Amino acid sequence: MSKPGLLLIGGATERMMERFEAEFTVTRKDDLNGTNDAIIAVATNGHDGVPAPIMAALPNLKVVSCYGVGYDAIDTAACNARGILVSHTPNVLNDDVANTAILLMLGVSRSVVRDDAYVRAGNWVAKGNAPLTNSVENAKVGILGMGRIGERIAEKLTVFTPHIQYHTRCPKDVPYSYSDDLMAMAADVDILIAIVPGGPATDKLINDDVLNALGPNGMLINVARGSVVDEAAMVKALQDGRLGYAGLDVFEAEPKVPEALFEMENVLLLPHVASATHETRRAMGDLVTDNLSEYLKSGQVLTPIPECQT
Ligand code: NDP
Repeated sequence: MSKPGLLLIGGATERMMERFEAEFTVTRKDDLNGTNDAIIAVATNGHDGVPAPIMAALPNLKVVSCYGVGYDAIDTAACNARGILVSHTPNVLNDDVANTAILLMLGVSRSVVRDDAYVRAGNWVAKGNAPLTNSVENAKVGILGMGRIGERIAEKLTVFTPHIQYHTRCPKDVPYSYSDDLMAMAADVDILIAIVPGGPATDKLINDDVLNALGPNGMLINVARGSVVDEAAMVKALQDGRLGYAGLDVFEAEPKVPEALFEMENVLLLPHVASATHETRRAMGDLVTDNLSEYLKSGQVLTPIPECQT
């Protein structure tokens, strides 16, 4: 019997390819040529999603397996309308994404990149001790988002500070103070960490007013999505000194990053790598393939997105 078809959008590791090819006939996106009736599954990622023309070219599509917990690039309404199951990779990346938030917070506050450059440039010998930096001990931290990753960030933060609050639309059963007002929370904290999904509901939630509330000594950490922050307003606030510091893993038009940020010593920039360790990416890849295998076995997926109605 011939194997069912799988369309691969974006990359896949060797390990994922082996598992895909054991169960499916794999077509890569660039090789898709018009309508394909044999393809029942798509493996994609949160950045590329499934573009509408591809959805239209796959009349028998039944399941989309997304490599990543964020799936804002996938048109979930269109999938629901066609009864297409969508899975993602929650939980397996919680620790590494939370570690990246902490890494950025410490890296910015202790000026790690600046001081590394100081040593390499011979300034320690030439100019003496590096300038002092800031401590995060007992800092007041606000977390925008208290889901799987937000809670893990909060747990890890308790090593540094007891002063943790969070903002979400609904309060959670967690031992941290709830704030129903993002701006009030930003005004009250030293460090604001964003870890909410992307998409219209969170678009530019961290706007100029929130940045002003965070203030000239405040630090913004974004490990969520670039769309969550008004990036132009953030760059301007940093330039004006209205916002003190930023640690950023994600950007509005990534991989393009506003060049104005390149000059700033009070900013740490990462190329969207919060989950990008060998260990976590392997676990994510396994979950992508496990979801597809499960679909072949039972017609269900292991980790459906919450919007899945089938
Ligand atoms: P969860 O769904 O577990 O948590 C999402 C949290 O965001 C919930 O607490 C939710 O609470 C809150 N939230 C959602 N919408 C809003 C809103 N409009 N205003 C305020 N709070 C809101 O997701 P995860 O913790 O697993 O992941 C969160 C996101 O992190 C992902 O969707 C992804 O975009 C990003 N991410 C980034 C990575 C990177 O590489 N930088 C890696 C992994 C994830 P409530 O519904 O009550 O508002």
